[in-house]
Amino acid sequence: MALSGIDIFKMLPKTNCQECGVPTCMAFAMKLAAGQAELDACPYVTDEAKEKLEEASAPPIRPVVIGVGEKALKVGGETVLFRHEKTFINSPGIGLLITDVMDESVVDEKLKKFKEIEYERVGLYLSADILALKDTSGDAVKLIKLIEKAKGMDLTTLVLMSDSTDVMKEVVKASADLKPLIYAATAANVDEMGKIALENNCPIAIRGNNLDEIAELSTKLTDMKIKDIVIDTGARKLKQSFDDHIALRRAALVDKNRTLGFPTIVFPCEMTNDPIKEAIFASTFVPKYGGIIILSEVEGHNLFPLALQRMNIYTDPQRPMATSEGIYEINSPDENSPVLITSNFSLTYFIVSGEIESSKVPTWLLIKDTEGLSVLTAWAAGKFVADAIAPFIKKSGIEEKVSHKKIVIPGAAATISGELDEELGDWEVQIGPREGAHITPFLKNWANA
Ligand code: SF4
Repeated sequence: MALSGIDIFKMLPKTNCQECGVPTCMAFAMKLAAGQAELDACPYVTDEAKEKLEEASAPPIRPVVIGVGEKALKVGGETVLFRHEKTFINSPGIGLLITDVMDESVVDEKLKKFKEIEYERVGLYLSADILALKDTSGDAVKLIKLIEKAKGMDLTTLVLMSDSTDVMKEVVKASADLKPLIYAATAANVDEMGKIALENNCPIAIRGNNLDEIAELSTKLTDMKIKDIVIDTGARKLKQSFDDHIALRRAALVDKNRTLGFPTIVFPCEMTNDPIKEAIFASTFVPKYGGIIILSEVEGHNLFPLALQRMNIYTDPQRPMATSEGIYEINSPDENSPVLITSNFSLTYFIVSGEIESSKVPTWLLIKDTEGLSVLTAWAAGKFVADAIAPFIKKSGIEEKVSHKKIVIPGAAATISGELDEELGDWEVQIGPREGAHITPFLKNWANA
Protein backbone atom coordinates (compact mmCIF):
# COMPACT_ATOMS: atom_id res chain seq x y z
CA MET A 1 0.00 0.00 0.00
CA ALA A 2 1.24 3.49 -0.80
CA LEU A 3 2.72 5.41 2.13
CA SER A 4 1.56 8.86 3.13
CA GLY A 5 3.90 11.86 3.20
CA ILE A 6 4.06 11.61 7.01
CA ASP A 7 4.99 7.88 6.85
CA ILE A 8 7.75 8.68 4.39
CA PHE A 9 8.97 11.65 6.46
CA LYS A 10 9.49 9.37 9.46
CA MET A 11 12.06 7.39 7.45
CA LEU A 12 14.02 10.41 6.15
CA PRO A 13 17.11 11.81 7.93
CA LYS A 14 15.27 15.02 9.03
CA THR A 15 18.34 17.25 8.67
CA ASN A 16 16.74 19.64 6.16
CA CYS A 17 20.06 19.88 4.34
CA GLN A 18 18.29 20.80 1.06
CA GLU A 19 20.57 18.66 -1.11
CA CYS A 20 17.50 17.08 -2.68
CA GLY A 21 16.55 20.49 -4.07
CA VAL A 22 13.63 21.20 -1.72
CA PRO A 23 13.80 23.21 1.52
CA THR A 24 12.91 20.50 4.05
CA CYS A 25 12.72 16.74 4.51
CA MET A 26 8.97 17.15 5.00
CA ALA A 27 8.59 18.90 1.65
CA PHE A 28 10.65 16.14 0.03
CA ALA A 29 8.46 13.50 1.70
CA MET A 30 5.33 15.15 0.33
CA LYS A 31 6.83 15.23 -3.16
CA LEU A 32 7.77 11.56 -2.92
CA ALA A 33 4.26 10.68 -1.80
CA ALA A 34 2.84 12.56 -4.77
CA GLY A 35 5.23 10.79 -7.14
CA GLN A 36 6.90 14.09 -8.06
CA ALA A 37 10.40 13.32 -6.81
CA GLU A 38 12.79 10.40 -6.94
CA LEU A 39 14.23 8.87 -3.83
CA ASP A 40 17.76 8.98 -5.28
CA ALA A 41 17.66 12.76 -4.88
CA CYS A 42 18.34 12.31 -1.16
CA PRO A 43 21.86 10.91 -0.65
CA TYR A 44 21.34 10.23 3.07
CA VAL A 45 18.50 7.71 3.17
CA THR A 46 19.60 4.48 4.87
CA ASP A 47 19.52 1.25 2.87
CA GLU A 48 16.82 -0.11 5.14
CA ALA A 49 14.60 2.95 4.65
CA LYS A 50 15.40 2.92 0.95
CA GLU A 51 14.05 -0.58 0.54
CA LYS A 52 10.81 0.33 2.30
CA LEU A 53 10.42 3.61 0.48
CA GLU A 54 11.29 2.57 -3.02
CA GLU A 55 7.97 0.91 -3.75
CA ALA A 56 5.95 3.71 -2.15
CA SER A 57 7.86 6.57 -3.76
CA ALA A 58 8.15 5.26 -7.31
CA PRO A 59 6.11 7.30 -9.79
CA PRO A 60 3.23 5.28 -11.30
CA ILE A 61 4.98 5.40 -14.65
CA ARG A 62 8.64 4.65 -14.25
CA PRO A 63 11.04 7.26 -15.63
CA VAL A 64 13.46 5.65 -18.07
CA VAL A 65 16.69 7.21 -19.32
CA ILE A 66 18.03 6.28 -22.75
CA GLY A 67 21.54 7.32 -23.67
CA VAL A 68 24.20 9.08 -21.65
CA GLY A 69 25.38 12.59 -20.87
CA GLU A 70 23.64 15.79 -21.90
CA LYS A 71 21.85 14.19 -24.82
CA ALA A 72 20.28 11.39 -22.77
CA LEU A 73 16.53 11.18 -23.22
CA LYS A 74 14.34 10.75 -20.16
CA VAL A 75 10.79 9.53 -20.75
CA GLY A 76 7.97 8.44 -18.43
CA GLY A 77 7.70 9.64 -14.84
CA GLU A 78 4.22 11.04 -15.45
CA THR A 79 1.82 11.36 -12.55
CA VAL A 80 -1.44 12.64 -14.06
CA LEU A 81 -3.94 11.76 -16.76
CA PHE A 82 -4.69 15.31 -17.81
CA ARG A 83 -2.52 18.34 -18.27
CA HIS A 84 -4.93 20.63 -16.42
CA GLU A 85 -4.39 18.54 -13.25
CA LYS A 86 -0.64 19.09 -13.08
CA THR A 87 2.29 19.52 -15.46
CA PHE A 88 3.28 16.65 -17.73
CA ILE A 89 6.89 16.02 -16.82
CA ASN A 90 9.12 14.38 -19.43
CA SER A 91 8.21 15.35 -22.97
CA PRO A 92 8.19 12.61 -25.62
CA GLY A 93 11.33 12.01 -27.61
CA ILE A 94 10.98 12.54 -31.34
CA GLY A 95 12.89 9.87 -33.23
CA LEU A 96 13.96 9.00 -36.77
CA LEU A 97 13.95 5.49 -38.21
CA ILE A 98 16.93 4.38 -40.28
CA THR A 99 17.28 0.83 -41.55
CA ASP A 100 20.39 -1.10 -42.47
CA VAL A 101 19.24 -1.61 -46.06
CA MET A 102 18.92 2.07 -46.94
CA ASP A 103 21.40 3.47 -49.47
CA GLU A 104 24.35 5.15 -47.87
CA SER A 105 23.49 8.47 -49.54
CA VAL A 106 19.94 8.30 -48.14
CA VAL A 107 21.27 7.54 -44.67
CA ASP A 108 23.74 10.43 -44.89
CA GLU A 109 21.02 12.83 -45.95
CA LYS A 110 18.66 11.69 -43.17
CA LEU A 111 21.35 11.94 -40.51
CA LYS A 112 22.37 15.38 -41.74
CA LYS A 113 18.80 16.68 -41.46
CA PHE A 114 18.33 14.98 -38.10
CA LYS A 115 21.38 16.74 -36.77
CA GLU A 116 20.90 20.13 -38.38
CA ILE A 117 17.19 20.92 -38.20
CA GLU A 118 16.63 22.96 -35.09
CA TYR A 119 14.26 25.80 -34.17
CA GLU A 120 14.58 28.47 -31.52
CA ARG A 121 11.41 29.39 -29.67
CA VAL A 122 11.16 31.54 -26.52
CA GLY A 123 14.83 30.86 -25.85
CA LEU A 124 14.39 27.08 -26.18
CA TYR A 125 15.91 24.94 -28.92
CA LEU A 126 13.57 22.44 -30.54
CA SER A 127 15.00 19.41 -32.33
CA ALA A 128 14.65 15.65 -32.75
CA ASP A 129 16.10 13.49 -29.99
CA ILE A 130 16.70 9.87 -30.80
CA LEU A 131 17.72 7.64 -33.71
CA ALA A 132 16.07 4.25 -34.20
CA LEU A 133 18.53 2.03 -36.09
CA LYS A 134 16.84 -1.08 -37.44
CA ASP A 135 18.26 -4.40 -38.55
CA THR A 136 16.26 -5.86 -41.41
CA SER A 137 19.03 -7.88 -43.07
CA GLY A 138 20.02 -10.04 -40.11
CA ASP A 139 23.61 -8.82 -40.52
CA ALA A 140 25.01 -7.30 -37.30
CA VAL A 141 27.92 -5.73 -39.21
CA LYS A 142 25.53 -3.49 -41.15
CA LEU A 143 23.85 -2.23 -38.00
CA ILE A 144 27.21 -1.66 -36.30
CA LYS A 145 28.23 0.42 -39.34
CA LEU A 146 25.14 2.58 -38.82
CA ILE A 147 25.92 2.96 -35.13
CA GLU A 148 29.48 4.04 -35.95
CA LYS A 149 28.23 6.54 -38.51
CA ALA A 150 25.81 8.04 -35.98
CA LYS A 151 28.51 8.14 -33.31
CA GLY A 152 30.83 9.88 -35.77
CA MET A 153 28.24 12.66 -36.03
CA ASP A 154 27.88 12.80 -32.24
CA LEU A 155 24.39 11.28 -32.44
CA THR A 156 24.49 8.93 -29.50
CA THR A 157 20.93 8.53 -28.23
CA LEU A 158 19.81 5.33 -29.89
CA VAL A 159 17.14 2.67 -30.16
CA LEU A 160 18.65 -0.52 -31.55
CA MET A 161 16.04 -2.65 -33.31
CA SER A 162 16.36 -6.30 -34.23
CA ASP A 163 14.29 -9.46 -33.85
CA SER A 164 17.46 -11.54 -33.77
CA THR A 165 19.06 -12.03 -30.38
CA ASP A 166 22.34 -12.94 -32.13
CA VAL A 167 22.38 -9.58 -33.92
CA MET A 168 21.32 -7.76 -30.74
CA LYS A 169 24.15 -9.34 -28.73
CA GLU A 170 26.71 -8.09 -31.25
CA VAL A 171 25.34 -4.58 -31.69
CA VAL A 172 24.79 -3.95 -27.99
CA LYS A 173 28.33 -5.13 -27.30
CA ALA A 174 29.53 -2.47 -29.75
CA SER A 175 27.52 0.32 -28.14
CA ALA A 176 26.71 -0.58 -24.53
CA ASP A 177 28.59 2.53 -23.34
CA LEU A 178 25.85 4.61 -25.01
CA LYS A 179 23.08 2.87 -23.04
CA PRO A 180 20.84 2.39 -26.10
CA LEU A 181 17.26 1.17 -25.85
CA ILE A 182 17.16 -2.49 -26.85
CA TYR A 183 14.12 -3.14 -29.05
CA ALA A 184 12.38 -5.48 -28.52
CA ALA A 185 11.69 -8.33 -26.16
CA THR A 186 8.75 -10.39 -27.35
CA ALA A 187 7.09 -13.58 -26.12
CA ALA A 188 9.48 -15.50 -28.39
CA ASN A 189 12.75 -14.02 -27.12
CA VAL A 190 12.12 -12.30 -23.78
CA ASP A 191 14.56 -14.43 -21.78
CA GLU A 192 17.48 -13.89 -24.13
CA MET A 193 16.75 -10.21 -24.81
CA GLY A 194 16.34 -9.65 -21.08
CA LYS A 195 19.73 -11.25 -20.49
CA ILE A 196 21.36 -8.91 -23.01
CA ALA A 197 19.76 -5.89 -21.32
CA LEU A 198 20.80 -7.09 -17.89
CA GLU A 199 24.41 -7.88 -18.85
CA ASN A 200 24.85 -4.54 -20.56
CA ASN A 201 22.78 -2.46 -18.13
CA CYS A 202 20.63 -1.08 -20.96
CA PRO A 203 16.92 -0.18 -21.03
CA ILE A 204 14.76 -2.58 -23.01
CA ALA A 205 11.50 -2.29 -24.95
CA ILE A 206 8.84 -4.98 -24.93
CA ARG A 207 6.41 -5.61 -27.78
CA GLY A 208 3.22 -7.56 -27.20
CA ASN A 209 0.04 -8.31 -29.09
CA ASN A 210 -2.21 -7.04 -26.32
CA LEU A 211 -1.95 -5.50 -22.87
CA ASP A 212 -2.16 -8.87 -21.09
CA GLU A 213 0.83 -10.11 -23.02
CA ILE A 214 2.67 -6.88 -22.28
CA ALA A 215 1.97 -7.28 -18.56
CA GLU A 216 3.37 -10.84 -18.72
CA LEU A 217 6.51 -9.67 -20.51
CA SER A 218 7.14 -6.81 -18.10
CA THR A 219 6.64 -9.18 -15.15
CA LYS A 220 9.22 -11.57 -16.61
CA LEU A 221 11.72 -8.75 -17.00
CA THR A 222 11.12 -7.25 -13.56
CA ASP A 223 11.54 -10.76 -12.09
CA MET A 224 14.97 -10.70 -13.75
CA LYS A 225 15.60 -7.41 -11.84
CA ILE A 226 15.29 -5.30 -14.98
CA LYS A 227 13.60 -2.01 -14.16
CA ASP A 228 14.04 0.20 -17.21
CA ILE A 229 11.34 -0.97 -19.57
CA VAL A 230 9.59 0.76 -22.47
CA ILE A 231 6.33 -0.57 -23.94
CA ASP A 232 5.41 -0.98 -27.60
CA THR A 233 1.79 -2.09 -27.62
CA GLY A 234 2.37 -3.65 -31.04
CA ALA A 235 -0.53 -1.75 -32.62
CA ARG A 236 0.14 -0.26 -36.05
CA LYS A 237 -3.32 1.21 -36.59
CA LEU A 238 -3.93 4.68 -35.19
CA LYS A 239 -7.14 3.88 -33.33
CA GLN A 240 -5.82 0.74 -31.67
CA SER A 241 -2.56 2.40 -30.68
CA PHE A 242 -4.42 5.45 -29.33
CA ASP A 243 -6.79 3.22 -27.31
CA ASP A 244 -3.83 1.23 -25.98
CA HIS A 245 -2.07 4.39 -24.81
CA ILE A 246 -5.15 5.58 -22.94
CA ALA A 247 -5.63 2.13 -21.39
CA LEU A 248 -1.97 1.96 -20.33
CA ARG A 249 -2.02 5.38 -18.69
CA ARG A 250 -5.25 4.64 -16.85
CA ALA A 251 -4.01 1.22 -15.75
CA ALA A 252 -0.82 2.75 -14.34
CA LEU A 253 -2.36 5.81 -12.68
CA VAL A 254 -5.87 4.82 -11.74
CA ASP A 255 -5.54 1.05 -11.17
CA LYS A 256 -1.93 1.36 -9.89
CA ASN A 257 -0.97 -1.53 -12.13
CA ARG A 258 2.81 -1.61 -11.88
CA THR A 259 3.18 -4.16 -14.69
CA LEU A 260 1.96 -1.51 -17.15
CA GLY A 261 3.59 1.51 -15.48
CA PHE A 262 6.24 2.21 -18.12
CA PRO A 263 6.69 4.79 -20.89
CA THR A 264 5.87 3.80 -24.47
CA ILE A 265 7.47 3.81 -27.87
CA VAL A 266 5.14 4.36 -30.82
CA PHE A 267 5.74 4.07 -34.58
CA PRO A 268 3.64 6.46 -36.72
CA CYS A 269 6.23 5.66 -39.41
CA GLU A 270 4.76 2.15 -39.63
CA MET A 271 1.11 3.28 -39.62
CA THR A 272 0.99 4.99 -43.02
CA ASN A 273 3.04 5.81 -46.12
CA ASP A 274 1.61 9.31 -46.36
CA PRO A 275 4.04 11.80 -44.75
CA ILE A 276 1.31 14.27 -43.82
CA LYS A 277 -0.83 11.57 -42.22
CA GLU A 278 2.24 10.32 -40.41
CA ALA A 279 2.82 13.77 -38.91
CA ILE A 280 -0.85 13.99 -37.90
CA PHE A 281 -0.73 10.51 -36.35
CA ALA A 282 2.43 11.46 -34.49
CA SER A 283 0.74 14.59 -33.15
CA THR A 284 -1.94 12.39 -31.58
CA PHE A 285 0.63 10.82 -29.29
CA VAL A 286 2.20 14.06 -28.08
CA PRO A 287 -0.68 14.86 -25.70
CA LYS A 288 -1.88 11.29 -25.44
CA TYR A 289 0.95 9.64 -23.72
CA GLY A 290 3.56 8.71 -26.33
CA GLY A 291 6.99 8.26 -24.74
CA ILE A 292 9.13 8.01 -27.88
CA ILE A 293 7.59 8.82 -31.27
CA ILE A 294 9.42 7.36 -34.25
CA LEU A 295 9.10 9.06 -37.66
CA SER A 296 10.25 7.98 -41.11
CA GLU A 297 11.56 11.48 -41.88
CA VAL A 298 12.72 14.44 -39.85
CA GLU A 299 11.85 17.44 -42.00
CA GLY A 300 10.63 20.95 -41.29
CA HIS A 301 7.03 20.00 -42.15
CA ASN A 302 6.78 17.43 -39.38
CA LEU A 303 9.45 18.38 -36.86
CA PHE A 304 8.48 22.01 -36.35
CA PRO A 305 4.75 21.47 -35.60
CA LEU A 306 5.45 18.40 -33.48
CA ALA A 307 8.22 20.03 -31.47
CA LEU A 308 6.10 23.14 -30.98
CA GLN A 309 3.10 21.07 -29.92
CA ARG A 310 5.32 19.14 -27.53
CA MET A 311 6.70 22.35 -26.04
CA ASN A 312 3.21 23.75 -25.51
CA ILE A 313 1.78 20.56 -24.00
CA TYR A 314 4.73 19.97 -21.68
CA THR A 315 4.87 23.43 -20.16
CA ASP A 316 3.33 24.10 -16.79
CA PRO A 317 -0.28 25.17 -17.47
CA GLN A 318 -0.21 27.26 -14.31
CA ARG A 319 2.72 29.35 -15.56
CA PRO A 320 2.16 31.34 -18.75
CA MET A 321 4.96 31.14 -21.28
CA ALA A 322 6.90 34.36 -21.31
CA THR A 323 9.57 36.16 -23.32
CA SER A 324 12.42 37.98 -21.60
CA GLU A 325 11.99 41.66 -20.80
CA GLY A 326 14.14 43.95 -22.93
CA ILE A 327 14.63 45.76 -26.21
CA TYR A 328 14.21 43.70 -29.38
CA GLU A 329 15.64 44.97 -32.66
CA ILE A 330 13.54 43.99 -35.66
CA ASN A 331 14.50 44.73 -39.29
CA SER A 332 17.69 46.59 -38.25
CA PRO A 333 16.25 49.74 -36.66
CA ASP A 334 18.12 53.05 -36.32
CA GLU A 335 17.64 56.23 -34.31
CA ASN A 336 14.62 57.28 -36.42
CA SER A 337 12.75 53.99 -36.13
CA PRO A 338 9.47 53.67 -34.23
CA VAL A 339 9.41 52.28 -30.70
CA LEU A 340 6.59 49.90 -29.76
CA ILE A 341 5.93 48.40 -26.37
CA THR A 342 3.93 45.32 -25.41
CA SER A 343 3.67 42.62 -22.75
CA ASN A 344 5.91 39.55 -22.44
CA PHE A 345 3.15 36.94 -22.96
CA SER A 346 4.90 34.74 -25.53
CA LEU A 347 1.94 34.58 -27.90
CA THR A 348 1.69 38.40 -27.88
CA TYR A 349 5.41 38.61 -28.55
CA PHE A 350 5.26 36.16 -31.46
CA ILE A 351 2.29 37.89 -33.07
CA VAL A 352 3.66 41.41 -32.67
CA SER A 353 7.25 40.57 -33.64
CA GLY A 354 6.00 38.49 -36.59
CA GLU A 355 3.84 41.34 -37.88
CA ILE A 356 6.71 43.82 -37.50
CA GLU A 357 9.06 41.48 -39.30
CA SER A 358 6.71 41.03 -42.22
CA SER A 359 6.08 44.79 -42.44
CA LYS A 360 9.84 45.17 -43.16
CA VAL A 361 9.75 48.48 -41.23
CA PRO A 362 12.82 48.76 -38.98
CA THR A 363 11.39 48.90 -35.45
CA TRP A 364 12.38 48.79 -31.80
CA LEU A 365 10.13 46.53 -29.77
CA LEU A 366 10.14 46.94 -26.00
CA ILE A 367 8.95 43.90 -24.09
CA LYS A 368 7.76 44.66 -20.56
CA ASP A 369 7.80 41.83 -18.03
CA THR A 370 4.15 41.23 -17.14
CA GLU A 371 4.77 37.74 -15.73
CA GLY A 372 3.61 36.20 -18.99
CA LEU A 373 0.20 37.93 -18.99
CA SER A 374 -1.32 39.34 -22.18
CA VAL A 375 -1.77 43.11 -22.47
CA LEU A 376 -5.36 43.33 -21.26
CA THR A 377 -4.93 40.79 -18.46
CA ALA A 378 -1.72 42.51 -17.37
CA TRP A 379 -3.47 45.88 -17.41
CA ALA A 380 -6.28 44.46 -15.26
CA ALA A 381 -3.69 42.96 -12.90
CA GLY A 382 -1.84 46.28 -12.60
CA LYS A 383 1.26 45.02 -14.43
CA PHE A 384 0.83 46.94 -17.69
CA VAL A 385 -0.05 50.32 -16.24
CA ALA A 386 1.63 53.71 -16.44
CA ASP A 387 3.58 53.58 -13.17
CA ALA A 388 4.98 50.14 -14.09
CA ILE A 389 5.75 50.89 -17.73
CA ALA A 390 7.27 54.37 -17.37
CA PRO A 391 10.21 53.36 -15.11
CA PHE A 392 10.89 50.40 -17.43
CA ILE A 393 11.00 52.63 -20.53
CA LYS A 394 13.33 55.09 -18.78
CA LYS A 395 15.69 52.39 -17.54
CA SER A 396 15.58 50.23 -20.68
CA GLY A 397 18.23 52.25 -22.52
CA ILE A 398 15.95 53.01 -25.48
CA GLU A 399 16.61 56.74 -25.04
CA GLU A 400 20.21 56.17 -26.13
CA LYS A 401 19.10 54.31 -29.25
CA VAL A 402 16.61 56.75 -30.78
CA SER A 403 16.68 60.47 -31.57
CA HIS A 404 12.93 60.93 -30.96
CA LYS A 405 10.76 60.41 -27.91
CA LYS A 406 7.69 58.71 -29.26
CA ILE A 407 6.38 55.47 -27.81
CA VAL A 408 3.58 53.39 -29.34
CA ILE A 409 1.42 51.48 -26.86
CA PRO A 410 -1.01 48.67 -27.79
CA GLY A 411 -4.50 49.87 -28.75
CA ALA A 412 -5.91 47.48 -26.14
CA ALA A 413 -4.16 49.55 -23.44
CA ALA A 414 -5.27 52.95 -24.79
CA THR A 415 -6.73 53.91 -21.39
CA ILE A 416 -3.24 54.24 -19.89
CA SER A 417 -2.07 56.82 -22.44
CA GLY A 418 -2.92 59.91 -20.34
CA GLU A 419 -1.24 58.63 -17.19
CA LEU A 420 1.75 57.36 -19.16
CA ASP A 421 2.11 60.79 -20.77
CA GLU A 422 2.35 62.30 -17.30
CA GLU A 423 4.74 59.65 -15.98
CA LEU A 424 7.08 59.90 -18.97
CA GLY A 425 7.20 63.70 -19.08
CA ASP A 426 8.83 64.62 -22.39
CA TRP A 427 7.77 61.47 -24.28
CA GLU A 428 4.86 61.50 -26.72
CA VAL A 429 2.59 58.51 -26.19
CA GLN A 430 0.92 57.23 -29.35
CA ILE A 431 -1.84 54.65 -29.46
CA GLY A 432 -1.12 51.71 -31.76
CA PRO A 433 -3.47 49.16 -33.30
CA ARG A 434 -5.66 46.86 -31.19
CA GLU A 435 -5.13 43.95 -33.60
CA GLY A 436 -1.85 42.41 -34.71
CA ALA A 437 -3.09 42.37 -38.30
CA HIS A 438 -3.18 46.19 -38.32
CA ILE A 439 0.44 46.62 -37.24
CA THR A 440 1.89 46.59 -40.77
CA PRO A 441 -0.23 49.48 -42.17
CA PHE A 442 0.28 51.38 -38.90
CA LEU A 443 4.08 51.06 -39.14
CA LYS A 444 4.16 51.95 -42.83
CA ASN A 445 2.17 55.13 -42.12
CA TRP A 446 4.44 55.89 -39.16
CA ALA A 447 7.55 55.47 -41.32
CA ASN A 448 6.12 57.69 -44.09
CA ALA A 449 4.81 60.43 -41.77
FE1 SF4 B 1 16.16 15.81 3.95
FE2 SF4 B 1 17.53 14.16 2.35
FE3 SF4 B 1 16.40 16.36 1.33
FE4 SF4 B 1 18.51 16.57 2.97
S1 SF4 B 1 18.48 15.62 0.93
S2 SF4 B 1 16.59 17.80 2.99
S3 SF4 B 1 18.14 14.89 4.35
S4 SF4 B 1 15.36 14.65 2.24
